[in-house]
Amino acid sequence: MVPFVDLKAQYRSIKPEIDAAVMKTLEDCAFVLGPEVAALENRFADYCETGFAVGVNSGTNALYLGLLAAGIGEGDEVITVPHTFIASASAIHYTGAKVVFCDIDPVTFTMDPEALEAAITPRTKAVVPVHLYGQMADMDPIMAIAKKHGLIVMEDAAQSHGAEYRGRRAGSIGDLAGFSFYPGKNLGAAGEAGMTVTAREDWTRKLRMLRDWGAEEKYHHEIIGYNMRMEGLQGAVLNVKMDHIERWTEARRAAAARYRNLFAGSGVQIPLEAEDRRHVYHVYAIRTPDRARWIDELKAAGVATGIHYPFALHRLKAFDFLGYREGQFPHAEKAAAEVLSLPMFPEITPDQQEIVANAVMRLQADTEIDA
Ligand SMILES: *Cc1c(COP(=O)(O)O)cnc(C)c1O
Repeated sequence: MVPFVDLKAQYRSIKPEIDAAVMKTLEDCAFVLGPEVAALENRFADYCETGFAVGVNSGTNALYLGLLAAGIGEGDEVITVPHTFIASASAIHYTGAKVVFCDIDPVTFTMDPEALEAAITPRTKAVVPVHLYGQMADMDPIMAIAKKHGLIVMEDAAQSHGAEYRGRRAGSIGDLAGFSFYPGKNLGAAGEAGMTVTAREDWTRKLRMLRDWGAEEKYHHEIIGYNMRMEGLQGAVLNVKMDHIERWTEARRAAAARYRNLFAGSGVQIPLEAEDRRHVYHVYAIRTPDRARWIDELKAAGVATGIHYPFALHRLKAFDFLGYREGQFPHAEKAAAEVLSLPMFPEITPDQQEIVANAVMRLQADTEIDA
């Protein structure tokens, strides 16, 4: 079986370093925040080419606390896309703000700037573009629209560590960005973790309080905060992995180039890498109108697949209360019906990719004959 991702292969490749870092944290009993998390914050801010980074306990909370620090709350509207993981919208909802959706560009799967502008009302306070699958949203027009309307921009960069747009890193363009270190993400912890980054020192101070009971100094609680601190063990593991993230990203990009060559001329709808962006291929999503059958047949051929994501968020029961209807975001709905994620991870081998590509191309040929 060609696995969809292979976390064990990655662990085996750096086991001595990870084990030593974990043992040291255990010996030091630096379990919550501590020196490893502080070191990671400095490194990650540099990596994102921005000023500050605040380590928290999930990507969802990185987005949530970032929005809170920027002053988003009840009475505000925040615009995001319906073709994403539910956390992009949940984080907005937690603040008390109203979630507003706008459609995606069908080619890059990211926010359509024209749809964004059309969704703005006098209550709109912020926008959350999602850098889906590892490719950044079209940030220049999004930032221009945000500036014109006085909106805060929070990048959902959970899938896009190290991605670039016109030479600028994910996390360095918006007012803030939220990253996830969920184990399956491009930079994965040994559990749950996340990071908010921003160039603003005042919001950084607020973020540090929000994640740690609303206090900068122990027991001097200035606001009602949360227990959303990053664990020391996650900081230690992530510091080790920071030494490898660029190599892994290049391995993902090389694997995507290999898929592109294998699929050349086959008619398979492969993901487009926009010329002005560095795609980091968190997910390698092709499209097919015959998805259900392809999934079964690929499984029978020994190829694991995923769907990111099978339902546009406005079609989910959880968001019924927002009052959206089927057909309102046609590009997002079509993407949800057609996307199919193929195995993609830094350690994938050319042989594994050939098995995947041959199985997919056989299905593509069948589908074309049927059509
Ligand atoms: C994973 C993910 C999140 C949430 O991150 P967690 O660490 O799982 O809380 C948010 N947005 C997107 C697009 C994601 O893929």
